[in-house]
Amino acid sequence: MKVVHTICPGCSVGCGIDLIVKDDRVVGAHPYKKHPINEGKSCLYGQNCYKIIYHEKRLKRPLIKKNGKFVEVSWDKALDFIAENLKKYNAEDITFIASGKCTNEDNYALKKLADNLKARIGHCICNSPKANYAEISTSIDDIENAKNIIIIGDVFSEHTLIGRKVIKAKEKGAKVAIFNIDEKEILKLNADKFIRVDDYSKIDLSSVDEDTMIIINAPINADEIIKNVKESGAKVLPIAKHCNTVGATLIGIPALNKDEYINLLKDSKCLYIMGENPALISEDILKNAEFLVVQDIIMSETAEFADVVLPSSCWAEKDGTFINTDKRLQKINKAVNPPGEAMTDWMIIKNLAEKLGIDLGFNSLEDIQKEIIKVVS
Ligand code: SF4
Repeated sequence: MKVVHTICPGCSVGCGIDLIVKDDRVVGAHPYKKHPINEGKSCLYGQNCYKIIYHEKRLKRPLIKKNGKFVEVSWDKALDFIAENLKKYNAEDITFIASGKCTNEDNYALKKLADNLKARIGHCICNSPKANYAEISTSIDDIENAKNIIIIGDVFSEHTLIGRKVIKAKEKGAKVAIFNIDEKEILKLNADKFIRVDDYSKIDLSSVDEDTMIIINAPINADEIIKNVKESGAKVLPIAKHCNTVGATLIGIPALNKDEYINLLKDSKCLYIMGENPALISEDILKNAEFLVVQDIIMSETAEFADVVLPSSCWAEKDGTFINTDKRLQKINKAVNPPGEAMTDWMIIKNLAEKLGIDLGFNSLEDIQKEIIKVVS
């Protein structure tokens, strides 16, 4: 039995976890006691995060759709087929979708490929705040020292370990005001003042001061709030959606809200989707795609529509890095081998680039990480 220290993939808080591995199988996950964010605690999702590794729909081999049915093919054949098809399209008709659920290394590789092809690329932040993370210096640690905390949205059910920091601040005397469109019981229980709103962008923040911390977990422009409260000295912490939404953004992949994401997908004849499942929003979004590639860990609703499906390694099956919502660059460590022929996303992209005769400029994880450090620091 071994214990592998890594980072929870459940959300952007970035809690440390230990995976318990027996005979190349993860059999449990425990919160990492010394991690500065979660301090030995985890939410329900964090406790169960490893179960995705053994999902019944895990993809194990590349698939090409023939006469409406998927057929297993070799990696060579699948990548040749994708390369042939990519060459048929003009750059402006090709879109790559990156993911805040994939590592920095995976997203970096996809961006390099998209840039080389002069194709479009984006990742979806859906219902999370839009923010220029490069400019944000507020940390999760600041929550505990705030005297007044304003929460826009919900951090108690959606990012529980942020909620725990708020409760710790309350124990030290902080007053908590929560704005939400739903009158959720958990929010009313944790708020000194609960305010139901219809529109998150119309919240009055005129009385905030330097002892105030504003935590945003709602689909609004956090940059505008930062600008509006700048003179007061109040701190603002936007909470990103996925474990590496911030990383994907800092690498330079455009962060798209739901409408922007839908419009981009609808406007693309050739789509290459890594680790995302837009069919869950609506199957109609994919109807204009003449050629669809899905690279994912499971046969998702979107993958069902694909012409080619490529099996990738999940977070527990690879080394790499995530950047959490307060910009901590954290290492994730491989605990077990991927199933079948599944491969790490950045390696798949590198192999595809070679089929296209493109040199992405890296040969190893270390090569990519050197570039990432330059870009995000
Ligand atoms: S708060 Fe987020 S990162 Fe932390 S354990 Fe829960 S899901 Fe994982």
